[in-house]
Amino acid sequence: MGAITFDKTTLAILAEALERLDEGFRDLPAFAPIIDHEVLRAVLLETADRMQDNFPYQHPLYAGQMLKPPHPVARLAYAMAQTINPNNHALDGGRASSAMEKEAVAHIAAMFGWHEHLGHLTGGGTMANLEALWTAGRLHPGKRIVASQQAHYTHSRISEVLGLSFQAITTDGRARMDMDALEAVLQTGEIGTVVVTMGTTATGSVDPLPDVLALREKYDFRIHADAAYGGYYNLVGNLTPEVRAAYDCLNQVDSIVIDPHKHGLQPFGCGCILFKDPAVGALYKHDSPYTYFSSAELHLGEISLECSRAGASAVALWATQRMFPLERGGPFAADLAKCRQAALTLYAMLNDNLRFMTVFPPQLDIVIFAPTGSSASAISRRSREIFDAAAAENLHLALASFPQTLIEKTWKTIEWDQPTVTVLRSCLMKPEHLDWIEDIGTALEAAASAAVMG
Ligand SMILES: *Cc1c(COP(=O)(O)O)cnc(C)c1O
Repeated sequence: MGAITFDKTTLAILAEALERLDEGFRDLPAFAPIIDHEVLRAVLLETADRMQDNFPYQHPLYAGQMLKPPHPVARLAYAMAQTINPNNHALDGGRASSAMEKEAVAHIAAMFGWHEHLGHLTGGGTMANLEALWTAGRLHPGKRIVASQQAHYTHSRISEVLGLSFQAITTDGRARMDMDALEAVLQTGEIGTVVVTMGTTATGSVDPLPDVLALREKYDFRIHADAAYGGYYNLVGNLTPEVRAAYDCLNQVDSIVIDPHKHGLQPFGCGCILFKDPAVGALYKHDSPYTYFSSAELHLGEISLECSRAGASAVALWATQRMFPLERGGPFAADLAKCRQAALTLYAMLNDNLRFMTVFPPQLDIVIFAPTGSSASAISRRSREIFDAAAAENLHLALASFPQTLIEKTWKTIEWDQPTVTVLRSCLMKPEHLDWIEDIGTALEAAASAAVMG
């Protein structure tokens, strides 16, 4: 019986830190909030009961969707900050947490080689991409936004919200934006911004940024890099030369989105938008009667589309980056490299197993694969069976659907009796996945056998 143990050992450190926080407010007259401990206890235990209805995201055998438990330093710093609950809209709403946000965001910008930037945290990647495309639309009015067919689905929807026209560009056999297709569209002269995805959500594919930059020599357009999931891989050494080359020129794009709540060890509610040219701040100019203006310094609320934002998010990120600086060769980078190694290991295991087929090598830490089969419908059905059988073995995978045009470049002999195929997908986003990869393989094998018998 290996019950999952959630960390409780660090709660004493939180109590100690709260004592320290209290010291800063000692000159206030004594005041203690009234809390009914009996009711609180009953409600919290009931809440724990309800929360048992979840997949075990915190466990290495959860190897499905893009979910990663926050590091204790982030959880504890967040919990501590919530006792104050600062609002990073304005310095008056959160003095310390606004300063910490600026520092944390500057460190992320420096990771991309930007020593000057404009940027801030957001509620998530969608909101951050909205700010990037809103800026893009203001700077290239009437022009179209393009992104690959495998770009995050929100880009087309965000464009719709902003009243901008959007076009999807076909992908190559590794789910990256096709450069011939992109150039054909650029020749129309109607494109204002190209969204380059640095790690697609479905397969972790990295668009060929060096080639997009080369096209920018010929055509005039902005480049926005959506690195919501893949951005931190900039720190990692074990990438292919091709992917490394894409990261190495990331400093030449106009804007970057990265989600600290994806690979940055943060709880959900933490995205980040960065602009290379701080002058875009002028676009945000607004005149809210509610904005607090006690400081001459630029308020974060003046360079953000959102008004209230959780200062606790910034505090958690700042603390995490103190413990895990964003440096190559550091412990944070080493953990990410393990995720990638886990994906490479799983990919090799699947290639050696006649029961499974792969599509292409992982470019970051996501592997897509499927049970061997002869038609798109049979493979899709078997994928769903193995998905269920694996869950019964406590191994949690994800399912993903891809168009024929993408997969047929690799699986040349299967019969396309339907336009898409459903395959298995595994995001190996926890460093522990590397130590568990044999167990994952064993559970997968058992699931494949069980699905045959069933
Ligand atoms: C997750 C993701 C998004 C959306 O970000 P949210 O934080 O979920 O709003 C956008 N782009 C990519 C590439 C992503 O992986």
